Amino acid sequence: MSGQSSGSTPVDKEDNWGYDLYPERRGETPRPKWWQVALLGAGQDSTEKAACERNVYNCFQNSPLVKLMYGALKASGCEIDLRRHIACEVCDVKVSGGYDPRLNQIVICQNVARSKAMVQGILTHEMIHMFDACRHELNFKDLNHLACTEIRAANLTHCSFMSAMVQGDASFIRIKKQHAECVKNKALASVLAVRPDITKEEALAAVDKVFLKCYSDLEPIGRRIRRNSADMMRAYEERGNCGYE
Ligand SMILES: [Zn+2]
Repeated sequence: MSGQSSGSTPVDKEDNWGYDLYPERRGETPRPKWWQVALLGAGQDSTEKAACERNVYNCFQNSPLVKLMYGALKASGCEIDLRRHIACEVCDVKVSGGYDPRLNQIVICQNVARSKAMVQGILTHEMIHMFDACRHELNFKDLNHLACTEIRAANLTHCSFMSAMVQGDASFIRIKKQHAECVKNKALASVLAVRPDITKEEALAAVDKVFLKCYSDLEPIGRRIRRNSADMMRAYEERGNCGYE
């Protein structure tokens, strides 16, 4: 942050973390547009927030992946406190969740992520960013670092059959494509969402540069989660193999 920034509003270009997508991060309560109220029932903030928090709590109790990530973070000295590190908020409808590196907080977009499965997908993805920040002293302003953690998050979660369905951004045809290609596309989209100030070419160059190294780094899940939830259970059962309990 530079001296000229005021409040929590990012001013510098390099401080741009896509905060326009998270209005509550700027201390504003976004007012739903009339059509959102009419069509989607937006505006019922407290009900939405309560449902979101219930889903988050449920994932921490029951989701093998979330529990695995929780254990890995704890073992790395970055234990998650639900009240401190996870926030359900109203976001721009373009995003479903995010990781705020300045506050070390995960944002779940309560107006977008309405199912337990979707909350689980977002939590796992963002917990990988949190893990990288904790474990690897990640500098999110460094484009190569950002590309790497997005590759890892896509690799370990999004490009699986399960979470691709959950995220709703994959067709069956796309699922049949090469896994690596899926990871590359997903990581590219994530980098561009976080850094609207860079071009697609710049983002792609960063993703390509670190791809092989970061694609093969499967810590802490230890395997790519594929197709059925048995893999998910196995990853959780084998978590001791990576040294996490
Ligand atoms: Zn991400």
